[in-house]
Amino acid sequence: MASSSSKLPDKEERKGLLSNTEDAFNPADDDWKADPEFDDDDGSESQSGSSESESRKRIVFAAVALILLILTGVTARTFLLSSRRNHPPDGTHPNLLFNGAGLRSNGTHDFKRTVLIVSIDGLRADYLDRGLTPHLLDISKQGLRAKSMIPIFPTLTFPNHWALMTGLYAESHGMVGNNFWDPATKTEFHYNRISSAWEPSWWLGEPMWETAGKAGMITANLMWVGPPKTTSGASPTYFVPWKDKVPMKEKLDQLVSWIDLPLETRPQLLMAYEPSLDQAGHRAGPMSTLVNKTLGEVDLFAKNLHKALVARNLTEIVDVVFVSDHGMTDTSHPEPIYMDDILGEAGYASIEHEDGWPSMGLRFAPSANVTHYLELLRAASAKDDGKKFEVFVTKEEMPERWHFANNERIAPVYVVPKIGYMLTTRKEGDVGMSKGNHGYDNSAPSMHAMFVAHGPFSSVVKDLHQRRLAAFPPSIMERIAGRSRGHKNKGWHSTSDDVYVMDPFQNVEIYSLVMRLLGVEKVASTNGTAAFWDQYF
Ligand SMILES: [Zn+2]
Repeated sequence: MASSSSKLPDKEERKGLLSNTEDAFNPADDDWKADPEFDDDDGSESQSGSSESESRKRIVFAAVALILLILTGVTARTFLLSSRRNHPPDGTHPNLLFNGAGLRSNGTHDFKRTVLIVSIDGLRADYLDRGLTPHLLDISKQGLRAKSMIPIFPTLTFPNHWALMTGLYAESHGMVGNNFWDPATKTEFHYNRISSAWEPSWWLGEPMWETAGKAGMITANLMWVGPPKTTSGASPTYFVPWKDKVPMKEKLDQLVSWIDLPLETRPQLLMAYEPSLDQAGHRAGPMSTLVNKTLGEVDLFAKNLHKALVARNLTEIVDVVFVSDHGMTDTSHPEPIYMDDILGEAGYASIEHEDGWPSMGLRFAPSANVTHYLELLRAASAKDDGKKFEVFVTKEEMPERWHFANNERIAPVYVVPKIGYMLTTRKEGDVGMSKGNHGYDNSAPSMHAMFVAHGPFSSVVKDLHQRRLAAFPPSIMERIAGRSRGHKNKGWHSTSDDVYVMDPFQNVEIYSLVMRLLGVEKVASTNGTAAFWDQYF
């Protein structure tokens, strides 16, 4: 794919700076030839009438003077240009000033700063290292990517898509599983039933499209997981509801047709969702040819989307952020853990609600001896030192890093299997177990998601990083060790060969990123780290 970033104004100017510098050293340059000192030098010594040693002294003197002159000139010039290059005196990159209602022309039309966030469900971070996604990698080389993006726990589709939209952990945004019981309303949430999936009261927090809408922006949602309306009555301006098996070409056409709308009706924030890779991962497992084939299709979708933006000269107007919600692990030969064996027939029968597959959030009947059943579960877990599964009393023992305790929708007892193990019963066996699954501990690398971004945002990030490096170049020792301060301190996993790979970061930071790109100031509070993006731009 042709590099569009070479068209960026700051890159052009950087290129210009280099070529001008080279010209200054070019002996063929007219200015060089016009220098009288060198006319003398160029002219024959015999004609000057000076002695040979005097002549040599003059030449040496002239050469030293010239070198000093050039060095001074180049230094001054570099200094001037680096401070002047596309930056106002305070050093702000022009793309940082382009947001809100501000306009930028693509050559034919005016555009507002636009963000397009695309979720490729189940794209495990290391899928990008398989050599099957050349276009996504090419886009990431022109922009940047993260080593991985860390999903929230549980690493399931609905909790994570809502975390991406709201910047909140599950305990805060209320989407605590793909299926779960709510004791307050005595109803069950089912991800695949419109009656619950579209009911606003399940979805807490403020999605980015609501915040953008409050700021007067037009938004468009193409099947992103979530309700068409929040409890406050807000809706995306355009909404295409979830439908399975919609070809990616159709989705691309929809996105492009939104981008081609006139300024007055064109969305500034677009969200899109693609589930086929997750479906392939479940059906055939993460190492399957089906996943690899689907990965290729997803890559082609990314290429065509990027191509459409390049064709419209929009790469310095539209930020495209490709993300996924979680990874995928092989579950083709799981070791079963029989809950009815552990709890006994009566114990298992006393469970009223089972939430959050592949974990089990347990709500026992009020008459059940929960203390006893907890003892049984703990004893079974301890038999293998908790290597197969762990048991938590939610309010007291849930690992803090999961931020998965402080909500009544989270069942009071949670049984969480380790990767490679499956909670089931003698009756159910492994029926319905797919060859790939997710939902496990979010610290497992196979659960990690992807982040690739390209647009005005990545130009700023790269420019700032380069300027920081220029101001504080890595020491010789750091270079020998293959490290730079940029890598160590500024959130970079690697920035070698112009490939920008960010350190892994949590997906609850995405809401703030998008709000920052759009220039929305009045934002909802999130579980993201304050000023997280300051290290990048
Ligand atoms: Zn998913």
